[in-house]
Amino acid sequence: MYNNKAIFFDRDGVINKLVLRDGGFFSPRTFNEFDFYDDIKTCVDFLIENKYLIFIVSNQPDISRKKMSIKELNKIDIAINKKLHIDEIYYSFDSKVSKNGSKKPSPRMLLDAKEKWKIDFSKSFFVGDSVADRDCANNANVSFILVSRSHNKELNYPLKVNSLNDIKNIIISKI
Ligand SMILES: [Mg+2]
Repeated sequence: MYNNKAIFFDRDGVINKLVLRDGGFFSPRTFNEFDFYDDIKTCVDFLIENKYLIFIVSNQPDISRKKMSIKELNKIDIAINKKLHIDEIYYSFDSKVSKNGSKKPSPRMLLDAKEKWKIDFSKSFFVGDSVADRDCANNANVSFILVSRSHNKELNYPLKVNSLNDIKNIIISKI
């Protein structure tokens, strides 16, 4: 019986801002392009106080596509770990979604965390900004919360927040 409760955060577009490149919004490829959203720190602090384990679950296909270096990714991780209490960061470097791969919407990264950290998914949430995040949460049977940002205004979901500080109101009913 697994008893720990967890919040899984997507990274790009949830914790940090996307980067405008070639007319679209994309993940940062360098540490200098990485910029936190203002609402993540208070949100994570609240969750830690309420005994949630905190994870980042992020697709980083630019690593396998050789468009981003591990060195830059490591610099970003150092900045994240300095600012936020994160229990573990999970990355998928897969360039494509595949049956046995980890790229979201595969639930692989969530399932790996569940076994390692003894997580009860019924008490846990996935906070994301994309259709792949929503489908990943659904594939793992974890409740999904959509965070609405300037780049994804068109997306809707029953549990939707305009700021990460509003997720308190959703999860407080489960505490
Ligand atoms: Mg995202």
